[in-house]
Amino acid sequence: MTPGPHITAALLSVGDELALGQTLDTNSRWLAERLFDLGFRTTEHATVDDDPERIAGAMTRLAAANDLVICTGGLGPTADDLTRHALARALAGAPAGPTPDLVADEDALEAVRAWFDRRPGGMPEQNAVQAMRPPGATCLANPHGTAPGLYARDDASACDLFCLPGPPREMRPMFEREIAARLAGHAGTVTRARYLLTIGLGESAVAEQLGTLMDRGREDAGEVLVGTTASRGVVTCRLRATAADNNTAAGMLDEVEAQIRERLPAVIFDRRDPDPSAGSDHDLSDALPRAVLEVLRARHEKIAVVESCTGGGLGAELTSVPGSSDVFFGGWITYENAAKVEMVGVPPDAFSAVGAVSRECAQAMAAGGLDRAREMDRAVAHAIAITGIAGPAGGGDDKPAGTVWIARASADGTGEARRFLFRGGRAAVREWSSRAALAILRLHLIGESMTLLAETHD
Ligand code: AMP
Ligand code: MG
Repeated sequence: MTPGPHITAALLSVGDELALGQTLDTNSRWLAERLFDLGFRTTEHATVDDDPERIAGAMTRLAAANDLVICTGGLGPTADDLTRHALARALAGAPAGPTPDLVADEDALEAVRAWFDRRPGGMPEQNAVQAMRPPGATCLANPHGTAPGLYARDDASACDLFCLPGPPREMRPMFEREIAARLAGHAGTVTRARYLLTIGLGESAVAEQLGTLMDRGREDAGEVLVGTTASRGVVTCRLRATAADNNTAAGMLDEVEAQIRERLPAVIFDRRDPDPSAGSDHDLSDALPRAVLEVLRARHEKIAVVESCTGGGLGAELTSVPGSSDVFFGGWITYENAAKVEMVGVPPDAFSAVGAVSRECAQAMAAGGLDRAREMDRAVAHAIAITGIAGPAGGGDDKPAGTVWIARASADGTGEARRFLFRGGRAAVREWSSRAALAILRLHLIGESMTLLAETHD
């Protein structure tokens, strides 16, 4: 393999269970992320069923277009494990032809036997096939199972082909030992990613502000590439820098981050540099409550919640974060009107006058929560109330399903109530409501103001 930028890799997953959707292909995600960390560019993920012609065809096609192909699965001892046969066909340049004779690898056979020697009964004859390899391929040791891996250089396409066992606990260590160790340094460059998490704007509004930073040609021009993804109200700007070394890449990321912060004031609430050694564990789902709790903690302030249509969802989001107890007081699930009256003192006549989904009711709920906490001698600084129509039924012309009022009442005497119209069904409305509540509190805490996504004005 020649060192240089943009060494490309393709991933091929093999198995009926994957092609039929019965098993989720986690190998490709893991491998793509590891290759990214090593500085390689993964161009394609392909999945085929246990058919030798289709496996060999995919290998041939991917090998022609990439410097590296990593195939997983189909190396077991049974009749549906055909990856080694397919590799032989691909190396022979005839995916649809008969499988060329495989050769027995003495070292691999000994290793498979040694594996079974530790178990009663010895090696089933069927497992001998796992030590067969295409002529021209090498076997890769598998300390965690019986299936050896395979490596071959395909001269016709100038591509390195690796076949690894399907089970992740065998595949991952073999990748580290046989591939990562060989590839380290080959890319000639490092690629580093950074995530900037935003709340409050929709994805297209974020993209509009990013403007030319999102141009797809930037990476080839040696600049930081910026993309966006949206999940439940959180829009993440994903930055990617390729450079000669880590420091240079980090510097490039810093520079573009500063530009983005200028273009997107107030909405960025968190920044993550994915840690290569942490593997695929980039869970961002609790990032927003985490960020809000951190600000509260720094201010030594507590929060209480008064929830109607979310039924405790906001409390659940907050308490999903470890250590939330020093910031989260607790709250009230005031679902029925009577609960709103009895538990947090909403005036009973509010319901006939303006209804439970109204500015007045939301404000009374938030203020009531703050009062109740005070009566208990608890130093709660903010109460957040949510009341809305989660749907699908219950809406009217003036208050369609998805209408939600969110109020904040703070011990410093400030407060606010905002109306939203969320779309997308009951679960989505409830989730978005909790997110918006966190966004409202966050803006107050950092002293910023803006109209939030899905917010509507009278
Ligand atoms: P195989 O090597 O084809 O016999 O695969 C053995 C087992 O490994 C399968 O039954 C799956 O449970 C698992 N496996 C294979 N490929 C994948 C993949 N791409 N992602 C996750 N698991 C896999
Ligand atoms: Mg299989």
